[in-house]
Order: sequence, then structure tokens, then C-alpha cells
Amino acid sequence: MADIDIRRDVSLKPYTTMRCGGPAAFFAEPESADQVGEAFEFARRESLPVVLLGAGSNVLISDKGFDGLVIRIGKPMSRIDCKISDGAGVIDCEAGAMLASFGATCVNNGLEGAEFCCGIPGAVGGAVFMNAGAYGRQMADIVKEVTYWQDGDIRKISGDEADFGYRKSIFSGMEDTVILGMKAEVHEGDITKIKEYTDELRQKRINSQPLNHPSCGSTFKRPEGYFAGRLIEDAGLKGFSLDDSGARVSEKHAGFVVNVGGVASATDVYRLIRYVQDKVFSTSGVRLELEVKLIGEFDQ
Ligand SMILES: Cc1cc2nc3c(=O)[nH]c(=O)nc-3n(C[C@H](O)[C@H](O)[C@H](O)COP(=O)(O)OP(=O)(O)OC[C@H]3O[C@@H](n4cnc5c(N)ncnc54)[C@H](O)[C@@H]3O)c2cc1C
Repeated sequence: MADIDIRRDVSLKPYTTMRCGGPAAFFAEPESADQVGEAFEFARRESLPVVLLGAGSNVLISDKGFDGLVIRIGKPMSRIDCKISDGAGVIDCEAGAMLASFGATCVNNGLEGAEFCCGIPGAVGGAVFMNAGAYGRQMADIVKEVTYWQDGDIRKISGDEADFGYRKSIFSGMEDTVILGMKAEVHEGDITKIKEYTDELRQKRINSQPLNHPSCGSTFKRPEGYFAGRLIEDAGLKGFSLDDSGARVSEKHAGFVVNVGGVASATDVYRLIRYVQDKVFSTSGVRLELEVKLIGEFDQ
């Protein structure tokens, strides 16, 4: 499975849930760890910076794009394998599988503990990188092992060694490292109750989040002792927009910046984010930190 296809000047917009941003100078979607190695070899030869992309549900990509190689871990690396014995389920998952598919595999096999994954629109690699979580559970609770590529080697670490924290993992501080997959462990339960609970969480999301507009989910991290959405609301910014660009603080959940109609540019979104940060700081003294990862150059 050698000979990775490396494409030039690929628009990244369709690869993000925010639906904005410019092109990647080079773009590759490997089908195997060997091809990941080939992609890095290409970047080294051409002296290109590399950035990793999963489902693009937590990134804001500059309108200027990324002047380097974007490696997307997606569908070609999305195998999910589930084994159940003695009441426990071990799910071996490649990084490009959607987290919701992993969650659904658990639910449909009567395994409990991964219901929270069903509504998160990321891929498994991005979820491990971010320690994604919802409704009191997070990846740290279920990940037993992570396999990753680094410097031409394939390495494994345990869930404990992944050093998960609030929306971060050991991978957040590593360069040129690719999460290839994870092993998660969950337990058998009552399938009817598991399905009911999954539906309940799905409904909660539908009721509270602006799922009808492109977004990156919660734009900001939860500041210690506060809720970002509440601080933004208290600053009078719920439903706020600076202009008619389409970038708007959601009316439904002030913690989400949305791209109404998918017409806003990344610059529009970023300007609004900066405005919200400044306004919240001036009204509450709290500096909101971005949960969303910025890719490429943004004017400060
Ligand atoms: C509507 C909506 C709801 C959301 N709800 C939640 C929620 O409830 N809880 C939550 O935690 N998040 C939520 N999110 C945010 C997002 O879905 C998560 O952060 C998710 O884990 C990101 O995964 P991804 O594959 O999309 O990563 P991307 O956005 O593609 O990337 C995120 C980061 O991970 C890195 N990365 C991605 N894949 C790899 C890899 N294979 N190897 C190394 N690095 C990699 C990227 O370089 C980047 O820095 C929501 C987003 C949306 C749009």
C-alpha cells in the first residue's frame, strides 16, 4: 500500500464542520501507517510543515489556507473491530473511524459507557487528541491503549500514559505525531437501557445545541468555576453578530459561534471570536481560551 497520492491546492472547507477556510498547499489521506510515513517523507524532502486533520470538527482554518502538507486521517483508516468476552467489550478502532460509529458499535452490541460518543461529530483520532467528552464522560474513561506513528516508528501507550486532561492529551504537545488508533474497553449492560440513554443524550443535544448551522461546537474551553456560554450571555452577546457576514454567536447556545448559511469566512469567524473574548474579559475579568484549534495564519 505504498505510493500515497499527494494532491496540490486542495480546498479544506469541505473537510471542516465550520465550512470555511482556504486550501492546503498539499493534501494526503493515507490508507495505512506506511502511507503516513510516506507523507512525512514527502514533507521532509520538500521542507513542508505538517498538520493533522481528523473530521475537522474542532478546527478553524485560515482563509489563506495552510502552506504545507495536511494529512487527513479519515475513511481509508476507519476499521472498527469489537470483541466481547466475560462481560467486557474491547473495541479496536482505527483513528479515521467516526466517534459516533464507534459509539453506535458499542450501543448495538449492548455495551455501556460509550453512549456520550454518539453525538460528537469528530473522528476517533481527534477525540483521543482532544480527550473529547460530554455529559460527565470523556475518552479518558474508556481508552485503554493508543497506537501512534512517530518518527517512522509505530508506538503504543496505555490510556494512563496518554495523560488525558480537560480537552487535551499527551498528543496535544507533540509535533509530527499521528494517532493511528485506540483500544477502548466498556462493559456489557442492558441493551434497552443503553439505547434509551443514548436517545436521551441525543435529544438533549438537539434541544440545546444549534445543530442546524455549521460550527466547531463549543468555541471556548470551560473556564474554571464558570461556563463559557453563561459568561457570553451575561456580556449581552447571545445571538450577537458584528456584521451580516454569517458569523454569529448562537441564539440557542452562546458557547457556540456559528456560520449561518455557511457563508462566513474564517476571518469573519475569528474577528467575532476575538470580539467575544475582549467583551467577556471587560465584563467579567475572565479571559476565554479557545477550545477550537487554529490552523494557518490569522491576523491578531
Ligand atoms: C456540533 C458539534 C458538537 C460538538 N460536541 C462536542 C462535545 O460534546 N464534546 C467534545 O469534546 N467536543 C465536541 N465537539 C468538538 C469536536 O467534535 C471534538 O473536539 C472532536 O474530538 C474533534 O475530532 P476531529 O476528528 O474532528 O478533530 P479535528 O477537528 O480534525 O482536529 C482536532 C485536533 O486534533 C488533531 N488531530 C486530529 N486527528 C489526529 C490524529 N489522527 N493524530 C494526531 N492529531 C490529530 C488536529 O491536528 C487538531 O489539533 C463538537 C463539535 C461540533 C461541530
